[in-house]
Amino acid sequence: MTISKQIIAQMPKIELHCHLDGSISLETIHKLAKMENIPLPATLEEQQALFIAPEETKDLNEYLEKFHFIGRLLQTTAALELAAFDVVKQASYDNVKYIEVRFAPTLHTMKGLTLQEIVSAVVKGLKRGEVEFGVLSNALLCGMRHEPVENAIEVAKVAKSQLTHGVVGFDLAGNEVDFPPYAFEEAIKVAKDLDIPLTLHAGECHCGKNVYDAVVLGANRIGHGIALKDTPEYIEYIKENEIVLELAPTSNFQTKTVTSWEEYPFKKFLDLGLKVTINTDNRTVSNTTLNKEYAKLAEVYDLTLKDFYKVSCNGVFGAFVDDEVKKELGEIVNEEFEKLNGH
Ligand SMILES: [Zn+2]
Repeated sequence: MTISKQIIAQMPKIELHCHLDGSISLETIHKLAKMENIPLPATLEEQQALFIAPEETKDLNEYLEKFHFIGRLLQTTAALELAAFDVVKQASYDNVKYIEVRFAPTLHTMKGLTLQEIVSAVVKGLKRGEVEFGVLSNALLCGMRHEPVENAIEVAKVAKSQLTHGVVGFDLAGNEVDFPPYAFEEAIKVAKDLDIPLTLHAGECHCGKNVYDAVVLGANRIGHGIALKDTPEYIEYIKENEIVLELAPTSNFQTKTVTSWEEYPFKKFLDLGLKVTINTDNRTVSNTTLNKEYAKLAEVYDLTLKDFYKVSCNGVFGAFVDDEVKKELGEIVNEEFEKLNGH
């Protein structure tokens, strides 16, 4: 029997892959529009069309178009802080115990904020959410692939300066088709030399070699990594290096990374012993929650409590936190799953 939605809601979760700008609730979008004096379309349908990607998009780049409007609302420190707070609040509804929220500081400079100001505002919102909702929260900084490599290098340096202040890692996001890992080799090297933990989007656009390349270049975790399914020759390498894969089912279908459940590799990766995790990617753009993502996988694969426990443990393993925090998170995961086992 498929695990019930009630049990799923009570599972302790670790979420490693969630974008700030793609995950702001409609309620907070309304608040932000008012604060920033930017009118929204009149009807709910029109508003949703602006922020939510259809189930069928052409490709990753069409999916990414849904981020344009929301970006305009996130150009002040007050807006960024509120947005970050809002995402932690939503994570608490999914019983997330630890979340890493990622964003690209260079997308929030339209009104003259500095990268440092942007990062501080987001971290402030995350930490306020952490206190209010009891969800441990940290930030990941993204370099954008369509921007010059110099920008990503600048972002990596900002990440370093804030590493003990709520920022825990660096990522490369955006158009993977035109800008594969080696196009950003220089930026990745700077981040590596600065000892910044790395999670890189790769394998979201039908290229399994990108996953391998990203790890060779130094990634500790991979955003999605779906295309690894088509390049079995790299799987052992990913496994041996204990690379955590951040899957996000709804998003992976929307971006046409896969088109059918037969080819979706979640269970295959899990059974092979790869360190898979489940994530939302974008709660708003993908119109989802982490509970929904869990429920979807539970139904498709008839997953057991043990499978989900493994997923949470992989999340703890991959979290960019020190050993002491990992131990605490591990204890919370163990305790809460034990309670569920008793049901
Ligand atoms: Zn992503």
